[in-house]
Amino acid sequence: QTAAAPLSSLSPAELETFLETQRTAYADLQAHGLKLDLTRGKPSVEQLDLSNELLELPKGHKDSGGVDVRNYGGLSGLTELREMFANLLWVETEQVIAGGNSSLTMMHDCLVQLFLHGGPDSPRPWSKEETVKFICPVPGYDRHFTMLGNYGIEMIPVPMNEDGPDIAAVRELVTDPAVKGIWIVPTYANPSGAVCSQEVATELASMETAAPDFRIFWDNAYAFHHLTEDEAKSVDIITLASGSGHPNRPLMFASTSKITFAGAGVAFLAASKANVDWYLANQQFASIGPDKVNQLRHVQFFGSADGVREHMRKHRDILAPKFAAVDAALESALAGREVATWSKPSGGYFVNLDVLDGTASRVVELAKGAGIALTPAGASFPHGNDPRDRNIRLAPSFPVLAEVETAMAGVATCVLLAAAEKLSG
Ligand code: PLP
Repeated sequence: QTAAAPLSSLSPAELETFLETQRTAYADLQAHGLKLDLTRGKPSVEQLDLSNELLELPKGHKDSGGVDVRNYGGLSGLTELREMFANLLWVETEQVIAGGNSSLTMMHDCLVQLFLHGGPDSPRPWSKEETVKFICPVPGYDRHFTMLGNYGIEMIPVPMNEDGPDIAAVRELVTDPAVKGIWIVPTYANPSGAVCSQEVATELASMETAAPDFRIFWDNAYAFHHLTEDEAKSVDIITLASGSGHPNRPLMFASTSKITFAGAGVAFLAASKANVDWYLANQQFASIGPDKVNQLRHVQFFGSADGVREHMRKHRDILAPKFAAVDAALESALAGREVATWSKPSGGYFVNLDVLDGTASRVVELAKGAGIALTPAGASFPHGNDPRDRNIRLAPSFPVLAEVETAMAGVATCVLLAAAEKLSG
């Protein structure tokens, strides 16, 4: 069998035949009456089942220090759980807060408090600035962008490269004092799977910024979510920042949402002691303490930091074949056609698919017409606006393996059909 030719190299007649073939393949696909969903990065039922023992825990109601977890109090969270995640995140226990079930809520709390009160090094609350701008590496996490959009923060896209945000672009932008922050998913980024390198992180931590209270929202949601045995280690941004004289610049977030139960895990904030004190000083008006019963349950379930690492290998064994299936389906249908490129992540929850410019919306529409739900085109860009209309985020974690295979073969057909339509004008 000869390698498939690039679509752009076909003669008009060949392209017409190709288009007809894809139309037939698409009609076949529709006839199957599929109902498949690759939209959100949710853990599968099988993954959730790995943590079912949590439903029988905690045993007893006191932590090792004798704290009665049923009662109010302990705003910074149970010490044992903070110690465990301090170890995993390479920080000191006093630099970690164990909170409620959602790290996104902690990010939102930080943003709102910066707006209302400013941070430890703010000249004034961000709401008193004429304009507040954020650097948004793209493609990125849609909820980061919608959170900023909700507060009228201006979003400036920069490319997300394989080693992190485009640092030359970032360096230029931070000379504007209105630029107050940047989002980064440093390990196995959503959706590209990129891992921020030590070099890029060092620059981010040490660069001069016109805003004295510039913040790196370092969302380490996938810090432990490896898909291969080559486990990336997240850069220690907090030590890097304090070593270069900007201790309060990073705010690190993590959670067990994709380790135990997505809706009932524990979230963490890690930062300088000044930032931790700042967060708690504001949080005391919002809460008398987190759900320590759930925190104790997690302490007993994991046992240790190594227990978390061991548990993540079980997730890997379930997830890795699904990611392999995505790659295999795209490779078998699209190799040589030069109408798409896609990421081959070694961790995280997503595959980033870039199709022919101007066809991503059409691919999503075609997939929908065949019963395959994809994340809306452009979702990984501020205001949902992908200027090239080429980016699609694939989330293969939730469906069972056979469904991932079927859905991805269908997606590949839609990519080819949309490309053939476009090229034949
Ligand atoms: N951050 C990133 C990058 C995510 O992809 C997600 C979920 O998809 C979250 C945060 C949500 O985290 P949590 O469940 O802790 O609120």
